[in-house]
Amino acid sequence: MAGNWKMYKNAAETASFFEAFRPVVAGTRDREVVICPPFVNLPAAVDATKGSNVEIGAQNLYWEKEGAFTGEVSAPMLAAIGVKWVIIAHSERRQFFGETDETAHKKILAALAAGLRPIVCVGELLADREANKTNAVLERQFKGGIAALTAEQFGKIVIAYEPVWAIGTGKTATPQIAADAHRFIREQARGVYGAEAAEALRILYGGSVKPDNVRELMAQSEIDGVLVGGASLKPEGFASIVNY
Ligand code: PEP
Repeated sequence: MAGNWKMYKNAAETASFFEAFRPVVAGTRDREVVICPPFVNLPAAVDATKGSNVEIGAQNLYWEKEGAFTGEVSAPMLAAIGVKWVIIAHSERRQFFGETDETAHKKILAALAAGLRPIVCVGELLADREANKTNAVLERQFKGGIAALTAEQFGKIVIAYEPVWAIGTGKTATPQIAADAHRFIREQARGVYGAEAAEALRILYGGSVKPDNVRELMAQSEIDGVLVGGASLKPEGFASIVNY
């Protein structure tokens, strides 16, 4: 159950979120809980969650270890401060910052080499869905960004299916639409890595998940978890999603 804070919350707001959030998920044992704040608040978030069942993720990284790359942050830098996860190729990064399947692949490799767990985002635009191209887009993203991983590397990633038309729009995919896309992604995984690896793959759904729709989404056996943007910003709301 992962929360993506996008470009929200300052240091003080980060601290008060975790003060309220930690106790309400303290008893949650059978699922992993991850929050991905902006870079600048990662140290505070790691500190605030020490000794708890909440892990911290970044929202992005750059694939080189270090160098003259002004404004970028590397995977080893994130790992060194206790970050455990990283979102890769979120649709907002693909749309606004020019990320591609190729850069996604480089970032996955860099994350894994530093011991970070990648949450790799895929998903179609509204125009793709309307043109009946959803599966073609998912296949292209899988082949271009993921399929060249070794089986061992593949076993460490989580995929998030996030239809772009459902992100931040209040339009959630129906459980059926989400499950169909997850099934298709799992078929891609089966084709490259075999049945066992495909079964073990965790696929999160993301796109306007809220406390009042999480249950019907999670009732789909194809949906293993959720990646939540807006509704992860309030401690009580996100806790009720985590403990749906
Ligand atoms: C996201 O940022 O990954 C996301 C799914 O956002 P929202 O839940 O706000 O649609």
